[in-house]
Amino acid sequence: MADRYPPIASSSALEYVTVTKKPIQRCAWCGAAIVASGGSGRPRRYCRRSHRQRHYESQVLAERRGINDDELLVERAKVNRLHDLLFVLEAACEDVRTDLDASGEQPGIDIYRQAVRVLLEAAGPLRESYLEPKADPRA
Ligand SMILES: [Zn+2]
Repeated sequence: MADRYPPIASSSALEYVTVTKKPIQRCAWCGAAIVASGGSGRPRRYCRRSHRQRHYESQVLAERRGINDDELLVERAKVNRLHDLLFVLEAACEDVRTDLDASGEQPGIDIYRQAVRVLLEAAGPLRESYLEPKADPRA
């Protein structure tokens, strides 16, 4: 069940927030968002040509090591780094939850501003963190 927070107290302009959710096409190799070309052709699967090649190389490496399509071969250090960033975000969520819970029935706009600031700061590094599978055929 999702957490619910009281509405922003007596805010004149910001009483409702509408979130438009567009599907984001992501590179099959690095996970970066792909800007739609607007053409009528097949949607792009890779953000750049070299990533198509690295994806192919990773598939060859995975096949050689007996790894199926549902599994990835990644470096442990990269997984650990991602876990560290997720831990930071989890801690920030907990801090924000505590602040909101402690601020009474109708937290002021400053409490929400601070909450957003804390969450954006914690989530920012995750935006550039993608797990790239190993592709080096010598690996
Ligand atoms: Zn890419």
